[in-house]
Amino acid sequence: MLTNLQTRDVETLVHPYTNLAALRETGPLVLERAKGIHVYDVDGKPYIEGLSGLWCTALGYGNEEVVEAAASQMRKLSFTHLFGGKSHDPAIELAEKLKEMAPVPISKVFFAGSGSEANDSQIKLVWYMNNALGRPQKKKIISRQRAYHGVTIASGSLTGLPANHTDFDLPIAGIFHTAAPYYYRNAEPGESEDDFATRLAAELEALILREGPETVAAFIAEPIMGAGGVIVPPKSYFPKIMDVCRKYDVYMIADEVICAFGRLGAAFGAPVLGYLPDAISVAKALSSAYFPIAAVMVPEIMHQALLDESRKIGSFGHGFTYSGHPVGAAVALKVLEIYQRDRIFEQAAAKAPQFQARLKAFADHPLVGEVRGMGLIGAVEMVADKATKRAFDPKKGVGPKAMAFAQEEGVLIRSLGDSMAVCPPLIITPEEIDDLFDRLGRTLDRTL
Ligand code: PLP
Repeated sequence: MLTNLQTRDVETLVHPYTNLAALRETGPLVLERAKGIHVYDVDGKPYIEGLSGLWCTALGYGNEEVVEAAASQMRKLSFTHLFGGKSHDPAIELAEKLKEMAPVPISKVFFAGSGSEANDSQIKLVWYMNNALGRPQKKKIISRQRAYHGVTIASGSLTGLPANHTDFDLPIAGIFHTAAPYYYRNAEPGESEDDFATRLAAELEALILREGPETVAAFIAEPIMGAGGVIVPPKSYFPKIMDVCRKYDVYMIADEVICAFGRLGAAFGAPVLGYLPDAISVAKALSSAYFPIAAVMVPEIMHQALLDESRKIGSFGHGFTYSGHPVGAAVALKVLEIYQRDRIFEQAAAKAPQFQARLKAFADHPLVGEVRGMGLIGAVEMVADKATKRAFDPKKGVGPKAMAFAQEEGVLIRSLGDSMAVCPPLIITPEEIDDLFDRLGRTLDRTL
């Protein structure tokens, strides 16, 4: 029996990423307020936000300093844009700050509203750059199976998950997917992690050679794949992939939408995983989700190409109404200030061993095939048969079942296929980490 709010919801909303038919039976979980790492439903029941909303609420909820930064910017200048030469202090300062924090030389920052917009912009910029550089045939983009880069037509094409392609007529032409560094499922019997990484790099090279290196423009990768199942690559994977990209002059884009700003215990994830990209996409924890904002961080070679094109054809014809929204920029500046002042990244690194130890203790559970993670992110992959790694029948819906039990246990998480993903706010305390994993342990026992 649905409540009044639930009934009105299913009569009015198209929910993203939701089985719309099933929702009409169960109704949504209607949330009302939040504080720290907890969110509360309309009946006042608290839940630990085990996935930081959607991997984004790094500072948790109800941070008054961030709220004040937003309110004061709204009072001062609630909106102006960056089109045609307008500007404002928060956007300038935020771009300076991002350049200063970047792990690689970044020349300029282009702002967007979401991770999808950022990655979409990355593709358009690469195409534009290669036209400017007089190599219009170098346009193909390589992504990976299981990658998640967004849902617009271009970023959704980069995404390597069937649900984002089926019936949407994606991917578009010119976008290719190479294998994911998913050792548990994709390694051959007896293959070491290093041999597996070598094979994947060789597969990437074979794809580039098959298509013709003169036609391959860029490679995009999350340091750790998030929505694809929290896939942590073998140590030698990215150095080997980078070698291939460098060999064929393939521009490397790091999609740091989940990993940047402390998730792996450092400002950015790519250096932790052993690669230094040409360009970077950030979003989510950039503002700790207090305001939608994303950024594309580009190198000087890209900036020079944009300048050359402006000299040749005039205006750079790309940008969103909310590119560099002053409230988003002010919020992000405050969030970055808090990260630095409160040593949030260092603290995340300090809490990671406890988090990972609690996560890895689930490896012995009869329902669990593999646990994987790094920093304050992880996943538990559930299997029908531990010895043979046999997956559950998809119709059984073990993921949604676990998610529902977790909810009953007072934790919000997301199931990704048969994996449960965990990615709490970075401000979680050691006691709260224990509480979270105690509840997840009970969830696994009930799902068995
Ligand atoms: N890139 C990564 C790595 C993500 O995890 C996401 C969202 O989860 C996106 C891009 C897309 O971001 P958005 O949903 O803000 O468009």
